[in-house]
Amino acid sequence: MRQDDNTNGIERWVKSYCPYCGVGCGLVAGLKNGAVARIKGDPDHPSSLGDLCAKAVYLPETLRTPDRLLYPQMRRCQDGAFTRVSWETALMAVAGKFRDIIAAHGPDAVAFYGSGQLTTEEYYVANKLAKGFLGTNNFDTNSRLCMASAVAGYKTSLGADGPPASYADIDVADCFLLLGTNTADCHPVIFKRIKRRKLEQPDEVTIIAVDPRRTETADFADLHLPIRPGTDIALLNGMLHVLAKESLMDPNFVVKHTNGFAETMSVVEKYPPHVAEKICGVPECLIVEAAMIFGKADRAMSLWSMGINQSTVGVHKNNAIHNLHLATGKIGKPGCGPLSLTGQPNAMGGREVGGLSHMLPGYREVQNPIHREEVARLWGVPSENISSQPGYSALDLFEAVAERKVKAVWILCTNPLVSAPDIDFIEKALRQAELVVVQDAYHPTGTTQLAHVLLPAAQWSEKEGVMTNSERRITYMPRLAEPPGEALPDWKIMTLFAREMGFEKFFRYETAAEIFAEFVRTTEGTLCDYSGASYERLKNGGPLQWPCPAPDHPGTERLYDDLHFPAPEGRANLIPVEHQEPFERPDEQYPLVLTTGRVKNQWHTMTRTGKAESLKKSCPDPFLEMNPADARRFAIRDADFVEVISRRGKAVVQVRVTAEIKAGSCFMPFHWGRQFGFYKAANNLTIAARDPVSRQPELKACAVAVKRVIDFPLEDN
Ligand code: SF4
Repeated sequence: MRQDDNTNGIERWVKSYCPYCGVGCGLVAGLKNGAVARIKGDPDHPSSLGDLCAKAVYLPETLRTPDRLLYPQMRRCQDGAFTRVSWETALMAVAGKFRDIIAAHGPDAVAFYGSGQLTTEEYYVANKLAKGFLGTNNFDTNSRLCMASAVAGYKTSLGADGPPASYADIDVADCFLLLGTNTADCHPVIFKRIKRRKLEQPDEVTIIAVDPRRTETADFADLHLPIRPGTDIALLNGMLHVLAKESLMDPNFVVKHTNGFAETMSVVEKYPPHVAEKICGVPECLIVEAAMIFGKADRAMSLWSMGINQSTVGVHKNNAIHNLHLATGKIGKPGCGPLSLTGQPNAMGGREVGGLSHMLPGYREVQNPIHREEVARLWGVPSENISSQPGYSALDLFEAVAERKVKAVWILCTNPLVSAPDIDFIEKALRQAELVVVQDAYHPTGTTQLAHVLLPAAQWSEKEGVMTNSERRITYMPRLAEPPGEALPDWKIMTLFAREMGFEKFFRYETAAEIFAEFVRTTEGTLCDYSGASYERLKNGGPLQWPCPAPDHPGTERLYDDLHFPAPEGRANLIPVEHQEPFERPDEQYPLVLTTGRVKNQWHTMTRTGKAESLKKSCPDPFLEMNPADARRFAIRDADFVEVISRRGKAVVQVRVTAEIKAGSCFMPFHWGRQFGFYKAANNLTIAARDPVSRQPELKACAVAVKRVIDFPLEDN
């Protein structure tokens, strides 16, 4: 969506960055009377080239709403009334409780749960405080629900996290393999770029969409592979089988630049297309066709999102995608390579600062003694301060709270009472905590309702900082307006708390720029080297792609174009992976597979986009998509209200009977939490089963039953 340059009443236009999805579009904010009044696309931003989607356009409506959290508040118990308190009182009380808990139970009895919506500076300060000073690695974030499988997939296949390809590769690719991504709805500006490429050369460019739903993305694709949820490995192994049989691999690349080829192919041998069809439900001929298109393309890209990552075999699904690129040598070249699409605006920045419970800044790991030593030196603490044990990952963290191993949890800038699977369990867990601190821009949300202490956070446009998008591009966001009430930037809150805990000497930051400069030093010599980036350069020269190791370095469009991977001998790994069914399979009692996802004009848990009337109108309520064959089987008609029931809970929604969803599966969007209506929440139903390596939950597949609500009152009218 391009906006007209209507300057009517706008006093100043300032460049910034969209705080929603991981596409990371550049925007220009129009200021009027000290507030953001208009948004338009930034034609100079290389990631979005002037484009935006509707979510960004309606940002101004979401900023000054009646439910902004304006003051710190506290209460004794989770069902009591909040009392307004000063910042000093709130932080003293929380610090006192943290000190008592750590003294009595050790540092791992406290935890932080953050968000891919934090700026890099905010992530950095919170992570540094937990891991370097409080002595716990219990700092994890909602990126665990989003990208943890991609992180582990890159690490195991290529040697390090970090998407190799760029959006510029889209402009020259001739094959797009889109897996588990409804790009048109969830990453619309990327989709527009893919579409533009297709329309430029319709006969040369082919789009393959793998999805159980015939989404707008699948509809535009040349080839739609309607896969059974959770069976991507069988499909990808089947495609690799065809590539081998048709001699469409690159033996020279394989020999020179990879390990593991023979072991991988011995597993792939078990997946000829007719066998893959039986597992994944995609007709054999389509598997062959997709493989032939991918194999014959000079330049092929794979793009994927939650449909791949949110799985009990999410890491292996990522490995299977990388296998295709490594076996064909389609990586490290223009128009080639794997490119995961992140859900959140700064999930990438979080990875770079080490914002997962097993990581440290600069893609370092807590279990590596050299990495601990390096980071401790940079932080000015003994390396023993940093625990060698990974902390609790997101859902493990809530389980530890439920078991009272973690007694105090601090939630920053996220709303797990909507976004996490099985929210009934999350609520029960948080009710076991001695202290729940929630730092947010809004109240009430599902999660703030369970807080003992509420801390008001400044949000986008009210603070400065940087974020990194899905193509490793770092963009600076200026402060454009004053935060309302007593709200403070998240970095400032964490800094004040660190000082209250006695670490003033190490947390002297007065500006976000100082934090950024310190973080930059931690990346020197690492894959995600920011050494050439500074606030000054980002402000004056625009966004940059890491690695950018020197002030005169232009940034790096594509990783591994020297075909040297950050792994032993510089070789990437082909990894043998086997199909495995989703954790919860349909049965007589729960005969359908529920898959969850997003709708075009809402983002995440709707704390912001849910406030823009124009966005709400396009989809005011959640719904259930169901195939006509399943609808007949369960005597359900289009527009009926139904109960969707899983082993964990229930939702009540209206049905859309449509052939766009594969028979045996159904779909429900997850944005709505219980505060919109208890039974509107898709995550009443989902399951916390998770990948054993990435610990990412299987939000894309659980077993449900669907029953028509017989006595719904509207029918009596
Ligand atoms: S929501 Fe995503 S696609 Fe839309 S403007 Fe923001 S970053 Fe771009």
